[in-house]
Amino acid sequence: MDDRQALADERDRARALSTAELADAIEAIGFSCTRCGACCTAHDDEEHTATVFPDEVRTLQTNTERSWNDVARPMPYGISEAGGETFEWALQTTGCGDCAFYTEDADGTGGCTVHEDRPLICQTYPFSLALSGTSQPLGEPVDGDGLLRAHECEGLGRSIDRDRALELAATLKERAITELTEAIELLERYEPANPPDRTVVVHDSEGAKRPDGTEL
Ligand code: SF4
Repeated sequence: MDDRQALADERDRARALSTAELADAIEAIGFSCTRCGACCTAHDDEEHTATVFPDEVRTLQTNTERSWNDVARPMPYGISEAGGETFEWALQTTGCGDCAFYTEDADGTGGCTVHEDRPLICQTYPFSLALSGTSQPLGEPVDGDGLLRAHECEGLGRSIDRDRALELAATLKERAITELTEAIELLERYEPANPPDRTVVVHDSEGAKRPDGTEL
């Protein structure tokens, strides 16, 4: 079986997941955002890193009137000072390594300036689904079969109502299906770009791009 078929099979598995059962697992562990800002900021000198897909970048561009570069940067894994090729975009960061859309009140309460348009990975934090081809790292298993994972987060264990759990479960499914679709399309379009020194190329579901989002 080739890689694309394996990803397509995994996408079928994601589509068949029961939203109600996922919501049951989310309700069992409990979650409510405390607005601590930990998932939007730098930690221990490591820049904030969250995957963002091309359509999500364009939505953020349109609604914030920012350039591609001001919304997204090449995913740093796989590239160095000497350049290289990478396979995802990450949300852009500020000089101190926080997400470019993060804001903080004087009392330290965190907030997102693009809450309605935030990427799927932000909408579903701290949860992930352990399916092959979806984003890593996944966090610790929090349900019986290890499908639902959760990253360390101070909001875990707090009560969540059924409607919110169902909404979160549906968005988790949508995120897994989107990640797998992006991965399938990336494989279909990928051709090694062999960039010259100090040049970065990002391969995504639409082809090879420069760091400013323009096609190569
Ligand atoms: S887009 Fe919003 S929710 Fe996502 S990391 Fe940035 S500030 Fe946080």
